[in-house]
Amino acid sequence: MDQSTSQNSSQKPDQKILEINDLTVSFDGFKALNHLNFSMDAGELRVIIGPNGAGKTTFLDVITGKVQPTEGQVRFQGRNLRGIPEHRIVQLGIGRKFQTPRVYLNLSVRENLDLVCNRHKGVFSTLFGHASAGEKRNVAGLLETIGLDAKADLKAALLSHGEKQRLEIGMLVAQSPDLLLVDEPVAGLTDEETENVGNLLLALAKSHSIIVIEHDMEFVRQIARKVTVLHQGSVLYEGTMDEVQSDPRVIEVYLGEAPSITPHQMKLLRIMAAIAWADDSLSESEAQLIATRLSTWFSKNPDQQQHLQQELLNYIYQGGSIKSSINQVETVEEREQILKLAYTVVQFNTYPGESLINPEEKQAYDQLVGLLDLPVDRVEQIEAEVSNPLQSH
Ligand code: ADP
Ligand code: MG
Repeated sequence: MDQSTSQNSSQKPDQKILEINDLTVSFDGFKALNHLNFSMDAGELRVIIGPNGAGKTTFLDVITGKVQPTEGQVRFQGRNLRGIPEHRIVQLGIGRKFQTPRVYLNLSVRENLDLVCNRHKGVFSTLFGHASAGEKRNVAGLLETIGLDAKADLKAALLSHGEKQRLEIGMLVAQSPDLLLVDEPVAGLTDEETENVGNLLLALAKSHSIIVIEHDMEFVRQIARKVTVLHQGSVLYEGTMDEVQSDPRVIEVYLGEAPSITPHQMKLLRIMAAIAWADDSLSESEAQLIATRLSTWFSKNPDQQQHLQQELLNYIYQGGSIKSSINQVETVEEREQILKLAYTVVQFNTYPGESLINPEEKQAYDQLVGLLDLPVDRVEQIEAEVSNPLQSH
């Protein structure tokens, strides 16, 4: 592709886009990265996985200059990045997409993109006198690439979580980075949006080098060619997804992290997560509410509850589904408890005094009620209990 050759024209032909040698990052003596070696060819799409605490975020922080190496070095297109400030590293061509979208909600999709393209113009058009028609085409091209041309004039606030993620990826691409770093782009997305984001990254990979950090294994399967597994600050394994998933060391590391919640409890969680995510947004307080209630439901031991809560929170952000989970819930008691918590979530509002029930959450709730198949009067009774907790005592 033309774009990729012109983009990497400053590079010697067989030079690595990123080369990391014997990199150690210590925090007060604790080695978040420990003699790590890594290299990547220009044009590669690389996925990095690893259990919590493996050092994935620190890995990105050190590439972007947010954190300095204690030992070792990071080379980008042959240049040692040591001591170069973050904003200069962006100018050198490394762009980072954070986990939560950072778009301007009050601006339209197009205006958000205009903004980054114009920032670009501020530097380049004064230098090279870019024509504005070219820029318009640029924004139009980006809109098409991220699949939001039909929503170009909609305020970003009205986009779904997945669409916001795609918009932010578009804003990053507008700055023409040579290397894109993307941190957990599909956390909390629906299956369909996950696939959209995957396809977008695959399309971008034709003209960019990309590193994606990800937990969602199905997604990793969709996009990954080569996977790097981090563990305790070092590279544990590198290979295709099939090789990674059958490597005994990788399996051991992941089994060591096996969840303490049971598969059945996971189903219950997935149902709650589906309701809470129905409006494509999940507030921290809503997530907390679900994690707290479920942990006290699953365990009577306060220590265990606390551990569970943390674990549940992680899973809540990964989204859920009602249909595939509901037939696993057999007892009437559990069905009633699910209904109760789901109704609490639907009634729950982030802003005190606000009494609006979110229509998408309500719709998901109604679907749940249908699937739970409880007697109508029992449903009404439970809803009344939730609405007026004092009267039930
Ligand atoms: P991951 O993203 O893979 O979950 P991190 O890179 O966030 O892992 O963290 C790796 C380890 O380094 C963790 O044990 C974490 O607690 C520790 N760590 C990360 N940042 C700091 C910091 N600023 N100070 C102290 N410890 C840190
Ligand atoms: Mg992290």
